[in-house]
Amino acid sequence: VPYDPCYPNTGGTVSADADCLFCKIAGGQIPADVVRESEHTLAFRDISPQAPTHVLVIPREHHRDVASLAAAAPGTLAELVREAAAVAAGEGIEAYRLVFNTGSEAGQSVFHVHGHVLGGRAMTWPPG
Ligand code: IMP
Repeated sequence: VPYDPCYPNTGGTVSADADCLFCKIAGGQIPADVVRESEHTLAFRDISPQAPTHVLVIPREHHRDVASLAAAAPGTLAELVREAAAVAAGEGIEAYRLVFNTGSEAGQSVFHVHGHVLGGRAMTWPPG
């Protein structure tokens, strides 16, 4: 298991972690290009966009990955998915990909769950 600055040794879920990049964005300590906000989520543009629309939707509360979020706060996960759809609608996109990379081998690099909303171009399958 790679070192995870977002997750305390307790293995439990915490509302924020001082060393977590996305906790800092959620807390306003690091600026972000915010697209949408809801009670429990925040949506902001990816700093390294991989498509014309590339927005990350995160829970304000810290959870390591989408399965952890589903277990601890399923309502927030549902809210996140609704917000992702609203981001796509706001961008005028009919088809989009909602991606949760889970684990470093799958490409997860920030261990505060985030859904990638990708759209605005044709997508290929399978992903690389
Ligand atoms: P992951 O690789 O699925 O964990 O996705 C992390 C994403 O966060 C990547 O697409 C990065 O480009 C993006 N990212 C990293 N730092 C920032 C930032 O400060 N603002 C916005 N996006 C970021």
